[in-house]
Amino acid sequence: MLNQNNNFIQGCWRLNSWDFSDNELLNFIYQLLDLGVNCFDHADIYGDYSCEAIFGRAMRLAPQIRHKINLTSKCGIKLPSSKFPDHTHIYDTSYQHIIDSVNRSLVNLSTDYLDLLLIHRPDPLMDPEEVARAFEQLKQDGKVLNFGVSNFLPHQFELLQAYLDFPLQTNQIEVSVIEHQNFDNGTINHLHKLKIRPQVWSPLGGGSLFTDSSPANARVRQVLSNLADKYNCKIEQIATVWLLRHPIRFQILLGSSKIDRIRDMLDSQQIELSRDDWFQIWIAQVGHDIP
Ligand code: NAP
Repeated sequence: MLNQNNNFIQGCWRLNSWDFSDNELLNFIYQLLDLGVNCFDHADIYGDYSCEAIFGRAMRLAPQIRHKINLTSKCGIKLPSSKFPDHTHIYDTSYQHIIDSVNRSLVNLSTDYLDLLLIHRPDPLMDPEEVARAFEQLKQDGKVLNFGVSNFLPHQFELLQAYLDFPLQTNQIEVSVIEHQNFDNGTINHLHKLKIRPQVWSPLGGGSLFTDSSPANARVRQVLSNLADKYNCKIEQIATVWLLRHPIRFQILLGSSKIDRIRDMLDSQQIELSRDDWFQIWIAQVGHDIP
């Protein structure tokens, strides 16, 4: 399934708080499709294990749209939940947990395959051979078409890749004007070397860009505000084009439930942010001039 506007993916982490009826959610999905956004990002655990099922209910109203959309889910984290009384908060990348989690995701999302499955976080107890066996099985059964990881450092990515006969498709990582750790720890350079487009989560800092009053955030917000005046746009559009301007070609996970905000994020593709202005934002986050 080709991603039509492949710079953007709709995130579904907060779906359970959006208060959409099934019909409203379906309408939201149609509006996204009209905007060219046809990829949806899930995880088994989102919304206390509820978001996939909410999405699945909307899908059941219009099963014919499955072939027009691209579905990602994740597994590998276990959370305490009334739905799983035996769970403690651990990582679990065992063969059985991966298989069971995908089977539940398929039922919840009302689909018979995932386009992409990600291991949600690096697991210190991961046996790469076991993960590879689960991936092979899911691929062979036609239940998952592609595989990737999330929040993996380069050496963790390489470890799993070494046990697979096919390439990992992505690493979903946190990057934004206020979150630079993946520039500093080598993750972005590593993916760039492999010509892999990272998927970027919390591109607006999970909303903290608008609310957090830490000194670094205040400095960045001031620069974004000046640049929004200069480019005649909104600060979230400057924050978005700051990501889009990077040559690695980040794929941005949209977190908003509001179609107007999503449209603004997409419109930021028209802004031509200069190198000087990109660096103003970088320097504001770092808090001092570059060496
Ligand atoms: P985000 O875009 O950084 O944050 C979204 C939040 O910001 C929403 O609460 C949204 O509220 C608010 N917001 C957006 N525009 C705003 C504006 N103009 N003014 C004020 N508030 C605004 O994205 P995110 O939700 O944190 O992350 C996006 C996706 O990444 C998630 O849905 C999930 O799929 C994925 N993710 C993955 C991981 C991982 O470990 N792999 C971790 C976290 C998230 P409204 O809905 O009211 O607009």
